[in-house]
Amino acid sequence: MTTATTGLKLKTYRNEHGHEFQAVEIDGVLVSLSKKDMSNSRNFLAKARVYGAVDVLAADLSALEPAYPYRGSGATDADRLTEKLWDTWASFTKRTAEQRLSALLAKLVEAGVEEWKFSDNVFKNIKFSYKAGCSCGCSPGFILDGRVTDGIWNSDIHLSTLDGLKEVK
Ligand SMILES: [Zn+2]
Repeated sequence: MTTATTGLKLKTYRNEHGHEFQAVEIDGVLVSLSKKDMSNSRNFLAKARVYGAVDVLAADLSALEPAYPYRGSGATDADRLTEKLWDTWASFTKRTAEQRLSALLAKLVEAGVEEWKFSDNVFKNIKFSYKAGCSCGCSPGFILDGRVTDGIWNSDIHLSTLDGLKEVK
């Protein structure tokens, strides 16, 4: 008889608003799942989204965000330089967050969490999308090349730091 590899234990955390949720901690990052909206049948088989990855995994780079560029008509050379700086920062930050997320997910899949199931190679071919969560652009995030379930429901992944959270029994 073999024992399933479920190295990471789900714990319950409470945030400053009193909301409680279950998450696993990996390298100081909390990973939690949320069931997709099952009133939309497209979500039954939709790929997993990851929210919070840039803020949590690339906080060092997010802190360096340069001034947002003016891109309209009459842009000056200074505006065009500002645009290059911002675009370079944005693409480097997204790419770095993607690499760090891929490494985190690889560890998560390898360690395993009881009940959670991952598609094969779900940590590869991760893509950033401004429309990951909504076609209006209000919920940017990463789209994985596969699905994650909490044991029952097709789910999305949320990352957070431990800031402002209390572990509860
Ligand atoms: Zn929206």
